[in-house]
Amino acid sequence: MIVTLVPGADPDLVQRQLSGRGLWVRRYQVGQDVQFYIEPGSARVDVDALRQIQGVGSVASVPSPHPLVDERVGPVDVAGLAIGGAAGPVVMAGPCGVESEDQIHGIARRLSEIGVEFLRGGAFKTRTSPYSFQGHGEPALTWLREAADSAGLKVVTEVLGPEHAPVVARHADVIQIGSRNMQNSVLLRTASAEGRPILLKRGMAATIDEWLLAGEYCLAHGARGVVFCERGIRSFDASTRNLLDLGAVALLAHVHGLPVVVDPSHATGRRDLIGPLTLAALAAGAAGVMIETHPEPGSSLSDSSQALPLEEFEALAREIRAFDPEREA
Ligand code: PEP
Ligand code: MN
Repeated sequence: MIVTLVPGADPDLVQRQLSGRGLWVRRYQVGQDVQFYIEPGSARVDVDALRQIQGVGSVASVPSPHPLVDERVGPVDVAGLAIGGAAGPVVMAGPCGVESEDQIHGIARRLSEIGVEFLRGGAFKTRTSPYSFQGHGEPALTWLREAADSAGLKVVTEVLGPEHAPVVARHADVIQIGSRNMQNSVLLRTASAEGRPILLKRGMAATIDEWLLAGEYCLAHGARGVVFCERGIRSFDASTRNLLDLGAVALLAHVHGLPVVVDPSHATGRRDLIGPLTLAALAAGAAGVMIETHPEPGSSLSDSSQALPLEEFEALAREIRAFDPEREA
């Protein structure tokens, strides 16, 4: 928004009034006029309330760079299940990568007994090193889908390249765009054109505006809703793999009204912090969590240090349920 003062008004007085309402302002002298530019990250205020401030002449709004995201506040429907809004938290769980047909069937059965909604697992893995496990590709998508179907779960899995968008869309209820691809506009467009909801992971060095604009790409190109996923951002501290930005979670959930889930596994890289950060994420307004779990973390082909043994995951799932009064046993 741009606030223009009436001639002769005291700019310091008006600035204090604006800042006092939680607004971040930048002051400009435009010819004879004093104007304040209200930064987009500011608290939300009623335009009429600003017009009432003594010394304010006019308030003009600046069009949002992500109108479709702004319009689509509230829950996203994924195959009949609501994520966000007043719905209880959804749980997405499974191994980092789909390692074998037998293994994913076993995991899906256990997760279904525990009561999770989504089975996760990468068929196409985006790894930092070209020598690490890259996923089993298309066969793993079939294993994942069949395992989920026989256990009554939904599927979330990542698409790595535009050429795989149709096959991933055929097997997934939600298409995951990974952190490393959040600004890959070709992939965003191609995956979204499949018409499925997108789980959009935050780029590890992406600002919230860049993340929202990536969501805008998805909606502008046909995605049936976007669920944002905070998975930690780069920081100077190596004690955790990334820095879990719970401020961003609260902002998206409570200020923008958007569905956001948290992935504490990639955020921390260590299984001992997944429990407390899951609960913190839900308290901050997350609509759900995505957690890596494995029957034998020590033998996991990728991200073994963050994989939660299934027994520990089961105990955590009970604590998550306390956030969902309807499902609390
Ligand atoms: C994943 O969820 O499998 C993954 C690779 O996560 P990220 O894109 O957040 O690193
Ligand atoms: Mn992983």
